[in-house]
Amino acid sequence: MPDATNTAFWESRLFPCLKAIQGGCYSIPEIQALANSLDKDIHGRYQANLGIDATDTIFPSSLDGKISIPMGCCIRSGTPTVLISIPIWMRTFKTLCGGNQVLLETVFLVAFLHELIHLARGLVVDAQTTFEQDSMLAAEEVVNAETCNVMEIFIKNGRRLIASDQEIYDAWTFSGKNQHSDRWKQFIRKRYGWRVS
Ligand SMILES: [Zn+2]
Repeated sequence: MPDATNTAFWESRLFPCLKAIQGGCYSIPEIQALANSLDKDIHGRYQANLGIDATDTIFPSSLDGKISIPMGCCIRSGTPTVLISIPIWMRTFKTLCGGNQVLLETVFLVAFLHELIHLARGLVVDAQTTFEQDSMLAAEEVVNAETCNVMEIFIKNGRRLIASDQEIYDAWTFSGKNQHSDRWKQFIRKRYGWRVS
């Protein structure tokens, strides 16, 4: 049975953000246009509508099993699906966002669009096969670069980012906004938990 606190948090704080963007009426038109275009690409690639699975489950990171991750994506019986861990978002809201709903909305949509980019570009970890570290890192180089464009739109529209997103955006700027640069590759490698050789 779903946890009542999680359900209440989902309904009052997270679902309204998704509803706006999936309903095509998000307050920042550039973000809405990007979401529409990703949605179109996802539909074209999988011939299926996006599935959303908001759950009470805390997912271990696929990388080291230690860090819990707030969101992920997969292809489930042919359906491109975004997985959302409500308890982790509840924690994020209290700690990293200091209870600020606008900041929560920003970080939540940055994460959501990050997953849509994974799905739209076909850069998804397949649970049935082993995903090589190198191809995983290559995927994150591409997806995070595109996610930085999302963050840039939020910044231009006066939004603040949480510290860990700001860190990614700063690394992107520092890399000359070049996803093929050594700086960017090294940053992604470190960020996703591999020692920089
Ligand atoms: Zn990713």
